[in-house]
Amino acid sequence: MSWDDILGQDRAKRVLQVHLADGRVANGYLLVGPEGVGKRRLAIEMAKALNCTAGGSRPCDDCPTCRQIIRSTHPDVHFLVPGGPADQIRIEQIRQLLSRIMLRPFNATMQVAIIDGAERLTEEAANSLLKALEEPPAHTRFLLTTTQLSRCLPTIVSRCQVVRCQPLRLDLVQRVLLDGRHCEARTAETIVRLSGGSAARAIELAGRWSSYRQVLARLASGTPAAWIEEPSPETREEVTDLLDGMMAWLRDIAVAAVLDDPSRLAHAEHAETLRRQARSVDVDRCVELAFKLVGMRESLEQFVSPRLVASLARESWLSLREVKS
Ligand SMILES: [Zn+2]
Repeated sequence: MSWDDILGQDRAKRVLQVHLADGRVANGYLLVGPEGVGKRRLAIEMAKALNCTAGGSRPCDDCPTCRQIIRSTHPDVHFLVPGGPADQIRIEQIRQLLSRIMLRPFNATMQVAIIDGAERLTEEAANSLLKALEEPPAHTRFLLTTTQLSRCLPTIVSRCQVVRCQPLRLDLVQRVLLDGRHCEARTAETIVRLSGGSAARAIELAGRWSSYRQVLARLASGTPAAWIEEPSPETREEVTDLLDGMMAWLRDIAVAAVLDDPSRLAHAEHAETLRRQARSVDVDRCVELAFKLVGMRESLEQFVSPRLVASLARESWLSLREVKS
């Protein structure tokens, strides 16, 4: 893996490479962008670039240091991810990290701490990190990532150099799906349109494509019977499929209501059904429901019962269909 193997993110790569070349690497970086667009890979590439023993401005990928970092086994490159029941980064994790990075590196030039999910730092954890972020030991650098800049504590953001990562171009997401043989070309076309430019999301969706298609069949069905006869989804994954499917479908209804262009639909193969539904429901209420579903998706992540969320989503969907029919 090298800078060139990271798809897209040309601007972010340029910023980091210029800082490396000029010898003005910031104490801390906050890589901001959607899930699955390469933030962590950029952080790992930085860790290699700061420590590669081959010299030169590009990591060689071949020296023992590069190889250990690629395998996540380098003693001076530390990874922190959220965990525990609330999926947070807790103060004990930060304390443990700080106690290690205050020491000199074992055998690298720089200790590098890669912290994924900066929005999930508890307030206590963030506070204990502040001083180190502001005045780290000379041999330490921090690389934080987040999908939600607005949820990061301002005190953390202000102490980092923010580097923005963009959604990937859809042709790049398609290449990831096809090169990795995650699905067939035809399925890939639909998944790419649903991916929002996230390679990780596309791969994940390809993995559960058969259950997602069942959700689509329900959404496409004009009768409430399709919902009542089918068993209600119960697991978190099933309900996630349902909510994601509904949100994408509602967006398609809104598009179909104003544009007669199937190529603009995520579910282009259902163009006729979508056009019919767009005529029979109130499009403003579709948009309202889409926002409501975003809230439900978040409550699912906050560990509200999946069964309850599924039942609320189903009720909302059926009431949407009652309006004009
Ligand atoms: Zn190297």
